Amino acid sequence: MSVFETLDTIDVAAKRVLIRADLNVPMKDGKVTDTTRIDRLKPTIKELQDKGARIIIMSHLGRPKGKKLDEFSLAQILPALEESFNDDVAFAPNCIGTEAHEAVENLHEGDILLLENLRFHKQETENDADFAGQLASLADLYINDAFSCAHRAHASTEAIAHLLPCAAGRLMQQELSALENALTTPQHPVLAVVGGAKISTKLALLENMVEKVDQLILGGGMANTFLYATGLSVGKSLCEADMADQARAIMAKAEEQNCQILLPQDGVFAAEFKDNADHQILPTTAIPDDLMMLDVGPQSVQAIKSLIQNAKTVVWNGPLGVTELKPFDRATNDVAAYAGERTQAGNLLTVAGGGDTVAALTPSGAVEQFSYISSAGGAFLEWLEGKDLPGVAALKH
Ligand code: AMP
Repeated sequence: MSVFETLDTIDVAAKRVLIRADLNVPMKDGKVTDTTRIDRLKPTIKELQDKGARIIIMSHLGRPKGKKLDEFSLAQILPALEESFNDDVAFAPNCIGTEAHEAVENLHEGDILLLENLRFHKQETENDADFAGQLASLADLYINDAFSCAHRAHASTEAIAHLLPCAAGRLMQQELSALENALTTPQHPVLAVVGGAKISTKLALLENMVEKVDQLILGGGMANTFLYATGLSVGKSLCEADMADQARAIMAKAEEQNCQILLPQDGVFAAEFKDNADHQILPTTAIPDDLMMLDVGPQSVQAIKSLIQNAKTVVWNGPLGVTELKPFDRATNDVAAYAGERTQAGNLLTVAGGGDTVAALTPSGAVEQFSYISSAGGAFLEWLEGKDLPGVAALKH
């Protein structure tokens, strides 16, 4: 973390501070339906206010693809921002140009301004230097607090960082230190739980994981492909037979790297993919042709818990079963609740995120109990894949 400036190392008093936030919040009928992203930005905003900065927030909302469309206007989120920040928030109907400059000139110390959607200009996603220059002309300092957008090299995440003195905001700092503690400088044994539907979307992640972790627990639909690759029959289970070679290559690499892969030894099987489907528990060595595995079984859950009991760090991405359907959410809930308990007892560092993972882990209470739940989807996954994130790299100069 020492390579970045943070709010501890830069002086923001009376300065015009331009923050890249991720306010791409879910909306329905013009109203924000989940304020998590807004609430997570609050510590940075409050600290900047306390230090007397003039705060300018920029973000994207949805994919307007360079067009000014009312349905993607950030003006809609003003009430939710004002409620969360418990303060007035001014609005500029364009993120660049005269309107933006005038709004910035009206800011006093501690005031907050929200700029209109960056993606109303197509130059944003093109990482256009001139557009970044126009944004930069609004401010004295740039703060990136949008880890969840850091995997994109856009004008507001990448180009701009070369034009102004820059720093990581508190949320960015928190995400990076949680991720570094989990995989860059973790306490061993490090265990990864990787589930979800398919291995085809997680090949890069699995390849990186076997280099970094001591144990890799595989669950979800992708475990079937691995079982199949070891020569087992998987019945009607979701399986990417054409990925068997890749699965075998990952297992071979794991062996080379001394990473132990744990595949489910038993599963919960059903003939139908539906809520409360008739189900039975069977060993994965004897899967009938007409059934599919929709969750890992109780013996596997026990084996995973024993490994977690000895682990110091757990990184989690993807559900162990079809958590949308009962009772196939059981293994995920059980294992996540246990990891949460160990975390609360001070024995374990737990970091989870990516895609639908947060939704899958929520019923277990993991969101409150894990050390860190990343609000970033794609950026978290790319980081697990070992990629350098452009928005993070640009802050390191
Ligand atoms: P992902 O987005 O790759 O993390 O995948 C999440 C999806 O994997 C969820 O919608 C789950 O229903 C699905 N999934 C998990 N386990 C299985 C399974 N055994 N068979 C089919 N789909 C599964």
